[in-house]
Amino acid sequence: MNDKSHVSLEQHVCLVCGVRFDTGAILLDRRLRASMERYTATGWGLCPEHQKLSDDGFIALIECDPQRSDSPSSAARMKPEQAYRTGRLAHLKREVFAQVFNAPIAANQPCVFVEPGVIEQLQTMTAAN
Ligand SMILES: [Zn+2]
Repeated sequence: MNDKSHVSLEQHVCLVCGVRFDTGAILLDRRLRASMERYTATGWGLCPEHQKLSDDGFIALIECDPQRSDSPSSAARMKPEQAYRTGRLAHLKREVFAQVFNAPIAANQPCVFVEPGVIEQLQTMTAAN
């Protein structure tokens, strides 16, 4: 059975949770060959849920394990496709993030990768306040 088609529904992968979601765009093979799967992931984005949090002024902290990721570099410089997500997430208001980490964050940056333990530490800190 050949379920390939000359049209494909474009999807993006959420940077924060790794879920694929429809962008609403349709991809068309230029020569109308049945070359594509039903869905094609073309890049990274934010799913509706995480887009909303981002719009509301939150930055997502994504815990990833550098040991199990494709790159030995530190979490801060990790590329999304290299990150091994542990599944642990946290959302912080941008201004809180700037205070806690003593680092300003670009307005267009929706998320940061953090190393294991950071989110846990953060939760202890915020619980203490
Ligand atoms: Zn998401």
